[in-house]
Amino acid sequence: MTDAREVRTACPYCGVGCGVQARVAADGTVSVRGDPGHPANSGKLCSKGSALGETLGLDGRVLHPEIAGRRAGWDAALDLVARRFSETIARHGPDSVAFYVSGQLLTEDYYVANKLMKGFIGSANIDTNSRLCMASSVAGHKRAFGEDIVPGVYEDFEQADLVVLVGSNTAWCHPILYQRLLATRAERGTKIVVVDPRRTATAAECDLHLQLKPGTDVMLFNGLVAHLARCGAVDSAYVAAHTTGFDAALSLAAADAPSLKRVAETCDLDAADIAAFYDWFAATERTVTVYSQGVNQSAHGTDKVNAIINCHLATGRIGRPGMGPFSVTGQPNAMGGREVGGLANQLAAHMGFDDPSAPDRVGRFWHAPDIARRPGLKAVDMFEAASDGRIKALWVMGTNPAVSMPDAGKVRAALKACDFVVVSDVTRTDTSHFADVLLPAAAWGEKDGTVTNSERLISRQKSFLPLPGEVRPDWWIVSEAARRMGFAEAFDYAEPAAIFREHAALSAFENEGARLFDIGGLTDLTDAEYDALAPLHWPFPAGATGRTQRLLGDGRFPTADGRARFLPVRQEGAALPVDAAYPLVLNTGRLRDQWHTMTRTGRVPRLMANAPEPAVELNPVDAAALGIADGDLVRIESRYGGARAKAAASPGQRRGEAFLPMHWSGRFAANSAAGSLSAPITDPFSGQPELKHVPVRISREPVL
Ligand code: SF4
Repeated sequence: MTDAREVRTACPYCGVGCGVQARVAADGTVSVRGDPGHPANSGKLCSKGSALGETLGLDGRVLHPEIAGRRAGWDAALDLVARRFSETIARHGPDSVAFYVSGQLLTEDYYVANKLMKGFIGSANIDTNSRLCMASSVAGHKRAFGEDIVPGVYEDFEQADLVVLVGSNTAWCHPILYQRLLATRAERGTKIVVVDPRRTATAAECDLHLQLKPGTDVMLFNGLVAHLARCGAVDSAYVAAHTTGFDAALSLAAADAPSLKRVAETCDLDAADIAAFYDWFAATERTVTVYSQGVNQSAHGTDKVNAIINCHLATGRIGRPGMGPFSVTGQPNAMGGREVGGLANQLAAHMGFDDPSAPDRVGRFWHAPDIARRPGLKAVDMFEAASDGRIKALWVMGTNPAVSMPDAGKVRAALKACDFVVVSDVTRTDTSHFADVLLPAAAWGEKDGTVTNSERLISRQKSFLPLPGEVRPDWWIVSEAARRMGFAEAFDYAEPAAIFREHAALSAFENEGARLFDIGGLTDLTDAEYDALAPLHWPFPAGATGRTQRLLGDGRFPTADGRARFLPVRQEGAALPVDAAYPLVLNTGRLRDQWHTMTRTGRVPRLMANAPEPAVELNPVDAAALGIADGDLVRIESRYGGARAKAAASPGQRRGEAFLPMHWSGRFAANSAAGSLSAPITDPFSGQPELKHVPVRISREPVL
């Protein structure tokens, strides 16, 4: 028996990216506590993070490769994966195959999967469940800044005098970041404004809750930019020196939101509340505007992001202490996936297909002459292509689209119809039932690599448990498949450190200083230095020594002319309006104690205790009108599918609206998956689906 040991790693849940110390006792039991030395959380953990030690059992784990539901050896499984993908590509071309990956993957896993699909298969058909999380922010950043850049850091929450939380239940979804904000609020008197159709736990503690009509955010922020111009709060010198397009954006905003009255009517808000918000924003230089899924998960998500950024550009409040627009990501490594190019419209290392020289540059670096030269299929389109036969071989890594994708019933039919489906995952999921080949992937505590949180902070996620059964890390699984497809030299990795060094070298390859994502200073890390890597922000170019903080504060932007771009945006109507048949607006989201489809948090009794079953929240007046009492079993129906849940009367819901948590799936509660109800309607710029505005009807289930 060996002594206890402690390993410093990172939480695998939300985009806050907290540091964790995992202690493995001599008898093998694991306990966790917050890492006091990690800059994101300084030793604190939320309910989910502090229960990590209770999620580590082997119940439900996939421990051996399986072919057609039967145990198989790694060689047989990988040979079959390589053969079927190679045959499909030879017969139908590279765009007939696809990878659907996950923000749960480590950066090294993501890098290898992206390299195989884009570099060597020659298709850009790799997309990620992060498409459902933050793709609209990526698109909005690129439109305004020229690159996908979050300018700020978490300290900005503590240094701001006004924090505006838009579509973000930060108290539940990014709890440690919220606690940091509350801790300094008492000292500084920070004002908090929440813009959210629901009275969430976050809204309950704020100074001003703008409980707006769902989907009217563009109107609210167009009204704000027009107000800033009217009251002389525009930083004209900044706008003139560092931006383009202000006049056009202001002109459209002023036409869209000509008066407070119009904004109040459109947003269904009290005009005095809007005026208070506008006055606070105009008068408070240190203002941070945080946005999350409530903004991103919309058919107009990118325009919403740009409407917010327009207000910060107009006031020159970007990249300086306590000020800036700030997108917070849902997943632990959504940012890492963006770094390596794990979205179908990106190439690699923040290089995109919009730069004509990028494919050749990346192709030279990878020695990959057949590199993809155009964007691939985004998540919703990918499953559409699987359903109509264009995608014939699909590999799903570490995610559960059978219940989490919009129009999930159609996604399940697509998985069933697809000629060849590979699933690599930690546990059996709703999706793994469709796998022709099921591959056992390493879980948190077993895998080793890096993740990047919402403030661009790269942290190590480290293994502290042996690989059980025949489990292997994702980077190994993908590399072995690639080797068998004939790409042995390009995927000859012995450990994740080698992949990270290559990733760092690519970020700086033939980089003439134009790109802000450059971690070339990490190219020469030894294995020991990689192992001991302390959290650091990107960029980290060659020669960097200290901790990089904010970006874009100097007013120079990575666009052709070095200026940021205002985007003229207008308030649009709902992509899916309610009607007589489906009169309620359904919103979906997270609970405090659960993560995604509950494959881990669902194992922990104390995390299940607060909400043991799915409940749809309804305004009490609506519930009474429908003859529904608190606790009744109800049926929720949309044009795409149905779900069942208990009814919960909630005065925090606006009239005509309902809320259903996203977490429950067939594994935990049959027919309760929110994804089954959602529509495959996407934002035209980001491809992110509309998950916050689904017309439904709700009725009481008959008592048998
Ligand atoms: Fe994990 Fe997020 Fe909680 Fe931190 S705030 S412990 S990263 S779930």
